[in-house]
This record gives sequence, C-alpha cells and structure tokens, in this order.
Amino acid sequence: MNHLEVARLERYLKFQLAEILQELPSTDEGDSDSTWSAKWGSSANVLKERLLHNREEIILAIDRIHKGTYGNCVGCGKQIDLRRLEVVPWSKFCIVCQAVVPKLASWPY
Ligand SMILES: [Zn+2]
Repeated sequence: MNHLEVARLERYLKFQLAEILQELPSTDEGDSDSTWSAKWGSSANVLKERLLHNREEIILAIDRIHKGTYGNCVGCGKQIDLRRLEVVPWSKFCIVCQAVVPKLASWPY
C-alpha cells in the first residue's frame, strides 16, 4: 500500500467518523435511552452499540495510520488486502485471522 492509498483511506475514515459523530446524539441532548428510542425505535440499542463500536474502530485505525502500522493485520502482521480495506477501512485483521477471532471483535463482519 502506498502513501496515496493510505491518504485516501484516511480521508474515508475521517469522513465515516464525521458521519458517526453526527448520528450520535450530542451530550447536550443527553445520552438517555429515550433520545435514542425516539430516533431509531426498537433497534436503537443495536444501532447505538454499532455506532459506538465503529467509532472506536475508526479512531484506532486513524491511530494506526499515524503510527505507520495501518494495513498490517494485528493477528499475523501480514498486509491486509487493499480490496478488503476499501470496503471496511478500519479492518485490523486479514481474512485468515478474521475467520478465527471472536465474533464481537469482528463486528460488523
Ligand atoms: Zn492475519
């Protein structure tokens, strides 16, 4: 993966992060369940968990870019397939390791 590809994925990650932060109710509105329920109904909890999880994953991915380890599988250290990163830019596992990590760690895939 070259610098241009990393820069492009970083922009995409930051764009995704901005989208998530927009979806998450601000602290002014309160983080109560009723705020979420009003917005998303019965699937509020699932969506909230997913947004919070993805936000963490994106922040960690941007951190890996800054450290220069982005794109390397945290399981085996091999480079993650670029096509995989294009779909899920915050992927931290290659396809082989992804298959063996616990389901929770592999959200949303
Ligand atoms: Zn791996």
